Formats: sequence, structure tokens, C-alpha cells
Amino acid sequence: MPVSLLGAAEIRRLAADLDVTPTKKLGQNFVVDANTVRKIVQAARVEASDRVVEIGPGLGSLTLAILETGASVVAVEIDHRLAARLPETAAAHDVPAERLTVIDADALQVRELPGAPEVLVANLPYNVSVPVLLHFLETFPFLQRGVVMVQAEVGERLAAPPGSKVYGAPSVKAAWYGPWRLAGTVSRQVFWPVPNVDSVLVGFERDAEPRGDEDLRRRTFAIVDAAFQQRRKMLRQALSSVLGGSAAAASEALEAAGVDPTLRGEQLSITDFVRIAAL
Ligand code: SAM
Repeated sequence: MPVSLLGAAEIRRLAADLDVTPTKKLGQNFVVDANTVRKIVQAARVEASDRVVEIGPGLGSLTLAILETGASVVAVEIDHRLAARLPETAAAHDVPAERLTVIDADALQVRELPGAPEVLVANLPYNVSVPVLLHFLETFPFLQRGVVMVQAEVGERLAAPPGSKVYGAPSVKAAWYGPWRLAGTVSRQVFWPVPNVDSVLVGFERDAEPRGDEDLRRRTFAIVDAAFQQRRKMLRQALSSVLGGSAAAASEALEAAGVDPTLRGEQLSITDFVRIAAL
């Protein structure tokens, strides 16, 4: 029997039944439009053989669209009532029980995922979208690619190239793992409740070879944080605290890495930051 999707009326009925009033604190804006969840799954190119991890399945709209492809899903949900109800909703929509595993937990605290899923698909809780993404990419090396829905500003930042106005620490840190791209826009009207921000889809592919080990990643991220904490300052000043304790020492280190000390952090690519950290 094919998997069927959730409709708007059923979503509201489920929420009423569970006594769930969507909260801002948990970024609860549920998608009530079948076309939108199918669009996300298509953008992520999910196939029947894929193992997918979803963060924040909520009432299950996107979960069912992923399951509709024949893929299996591990779903991590912080709201106990929603986590407890999801297997029942999936069963009522003809999903075989073995294709869905629900983890009732805060995604930021999860350190293990069963079945080593290689695809991430999610309508992320907007208040924690960047930390959750970076935590998953750092903790689960088997994650190869994904498409997530985030607040438009955050998506644009994640996919921004060096030199652009919105390029910042999240752009560089995300690029450590591989390239990011904007993958479409989503109307506010597909959510319940309707949010007061625009949303976009953003996709990523992990590089075949990591840029370096955990030690190099930590050092690179510390330099990125310092560079963007004072983004108007030249690198020799912004990085003085993390590169030798003075502007002169920082200049020397930057020159040794082949980076002009008078540039600003927003002009450097992830490759430049890694070169500085590797010295
Ligand atoms: N995927 C559903 C949809 O598209 O309708 C719900 C998306 S809603 C934007 C975000 C979901 O993430 C909510 O179900 C919320 O309870 C859950 N959530 C919020 N913070 C979380 C966290 N730290 N870890 C796991 N889930 C979280």
C-alpha cells in the first residue's frame, strides 16, 4: 500500500488531539501543504535505497513525504508528545514500522544515530538551525548530503561566497564540510502558524575528502570566530589575540600563510582560514 501524506485538516486534528499549541520557543511552524513537503524531498533527491535523518519531524508532514519515496527515516524530536505520536501517525498512513525510528531527544545533544543515515532532510527549528546543522555535520561523518528549510537570512548566509555582504562565521564553518547552495524559496502561507519570516531551502554535499582532522577544525573555527567578532578590523588586529598576542605577531603569521594582513575576514575563503590555522 503506498504511503499517504498528511492534509491540513488532519494536522490540526492531530495537534488538537495531542493538546499541542505550536510554540515559538521550539520553532514550531508546521507545514500544512503536501506540495511543499514533496518539493523538499525532490530537492534532496531522496531515493528508495536512502537512509534519511530528519531533525524536528513535528506532526510528521515532511516525514511522510520522505517515507513516500520508500526511504527509511530516523527522526529526532525534542517535544515528547510529538515524538510519542509519530509512529502511530506513520502506521495510520501505511508505513511499515521498520522504516521509521523516532528518537525522543534534543538534536543538539544526540551523539549516536542508528543505521548511519547518509541524507539529512529537515524543516529545522529556526532558533537553533545553524548550531544543529554544524553539530550533525561534525558528529556524524556518514552524513553525505542534505536539504534543509531554514529562515531566508540564515540560508543566504550559509550559501554566501566570500566578499558578499552576508558572508560570516556560519558561511565559513559550513564550507568546512563542503559546498552549499540555495535550493528554492517557500511561501509563508504553507505553515501553521504562519511565521513572520521568509523561508528558503538550502542544500549541501560533503566533500569527498575532509579538509583536516578535528584539531585543525577547532583551530580553524577559533580563528574564524575571532575574525568575524571584529569584522570591520583588518586581520592583523582582529586575529592578534589568537595569533601570537600582538598585531605584529599576527601580521607575521598571516604573511607566512600567504594571506595579506590588511584584509578583513569577510574577504577570506575557508581555504585561506585553514591555511592560517595549519601553520
Ligand atoms: N517537520 C515538521 C514540519 O515540517 O511540519 C515540523 C517543523 S518545525 C519548524 C520544527 C520542529 O523541530 C518542531 O517539531 C519542534 O518541536 C522540533 N524541535 C525544536 N527544537 C528541537 C531540538 N533542539 N531538537 C529536536 N527537535 C527540535
